[in-house]
Amino acid sequence: MADTPRYIRVNQSDNVAIVVNAGGLPKGTGFENGLTLRDHVPQGHKVNLTDIAEGDPIIRYGEVIGTAARLIPRGSWVEESLVRMPGAPSLENLPLATRVPPPQAPLEGFTFEGYRNADGTVGTKNLLGISTSVQCVAGVVDFAVQRIRQELLPRYPNVDDVVALSHTYGCGVAITAPGAAVPIRTLRNITRNPNFGGEPMVVSLGCEKLMPEWLLADGRPAPAAGNTPDIVRLQDESHHGFGDMIASILEMADKRLAELNRRTRTTCPAADLVVGTQCGGSDAFSGVTANPAVGFAADLLVRAGATVMFSEVTEVRDAIHLLTPRAATEDVGRALIREMAWYDEYLREGAADRSANTTPGNKRGGLANIVEKALGSVAKSGTSPIAGVLSPGERVDRKGLIFAATPASDFICGTLQLASGMTLQVFTTGRGTPYGLAAAPVIKMATRDALSERWHDLIDISAGGIATGRATIQDVGWELFHLILDVASGRRKTWSDHWGLRNALTLFNPGPVT
Ligand code: CA
Repeated sequence: MADTPRYIRVNQSDNVAIVVNAGGLPKGTGFENGLTLRDHVPQGHKVNLTDIAEGDPIIRYGEVIGTAARLIPRGSWVEESLVRMPGAPSLENLPLATRVPPPQAPLEGFTFEGYRNADGTVGTKNLLGISTSVQCVAGVVDFAVQRIRQELLPRYPNVDDVVALSHTYGCGVAITAPGAAVPIRTLRNITRNPNFGGEPMVVSLGCEKLMPEWLLADGRPAPAAGNTPDIVRLQDESHHGFGDMIASILEMADKRLAELNRRTRTTCPAADLVVGTQCGGSDAFSGVTANPAVGFAADLLVRAGATVMFSEVTEVRDAIHLLTPRAATEDVGRALIREMAWYDEYLREGAADRSANTTPGNKRGGLANIVEKALGSVAKSGTSPIAGVLSPGERVDRKGLIFAATPASDFICGTLQLASGMTLQVFTTGRGTPYGLAAAPVIKMATRDALSERWHDLIDISAGGIATGRATIQDVGWELFHLILDVASGRRKTWSDHWGLRNALTLFNPGPVT
């Protein structure tokens, strides 16, 4: 027997709703309220609840997601070609800090078992990170990491793993160009990520443009020659061949591992968490199930005193008029606009615009354009005041809800959030992705039960019950909040950590390559 036909209308002013039933609904389907489908409507795609005349607004989330390309009779499949995309909201005269949400009641008594660092930050893992100043050394570091895992790590049971922080930057780039500041500070701040315990080591080649000293201190300190206590230079004159290089790396790693091994998990308040959020492979359910549940959990974390980041500029740009009023201060509001304007210009120089964001998978999932995607994406930010804004790769310096400006690219967003100090990431997906990071656990939340059932050994939590009425946004938000505490404590392993799925560190380099 077929399911009862169901749709979800998010806001009372919406003139479209999305079909919930798996497999979609056939032409002729009748709903209890008398609506009859004129077309087959795939799952997650839109049906209009009233006639929409050519040029009239199509409204979802209470916002205009486009205008009708022609008359759309009630009950039609409102597919992508029927939705003309509106222009992005102007960045002029946006309201700043005009509707700052009042503080919600503090949430006390929630803790996790973390690794406290000397600088006050707390890690969710105990990792040896081996930073690199240039891609030239990546093969040598990979070889060394295999040896470290086999020969050294078994002697240090309190250390979870060793991570090679390899990347494509470091040489062959315009190192003094303004855009170079982004990849350089990203690499420096990843070295300082709380999950690496403040025991940095760097492997360098010796002739590259990015000086390894820049990864260990602010600014651009003068380079030293040869090896130092924190830096192995492969071109150091004491190295006679590959074996000597590996020996130097293993010797330094052994000292770092001995230090890291002294650390054990201690009970820390939830306020010490730095949780990043992002989405990837979004569908039309993202904005009604998973992202609002993440937003609810984000509010809980903020109430508990933690730091929560949301990101992905191109998925925020079309909802910016909803965010600047929520800025805690006018300065924060101006910083939001600054990041949007910077990205507008970056895209313009590349002869692209925000419409380049949506993927074929997004569209198959029912998202007509970036406006609809953005309105669903910002639901991850919950309802707290926006307490601060970070430019790409900057380190977070405060509690509360933070907008960390990053591209929406999953790997680049993950890399930049790690630089900002993120120690655990929550990732929502509708189409499905096996995404994972070596440096921090990633909790993956499905927007639909069909995905979490099919990918039962990749998806950690499903928000699909919100669409079927089995659970509320609050239920799933609390479930996620408790899962975050469990994963941060090492009591539960994410599927990506279980299988060892790791995406590459992927730097954002707006500067020229030479
Ligand atoms: Ca993303």
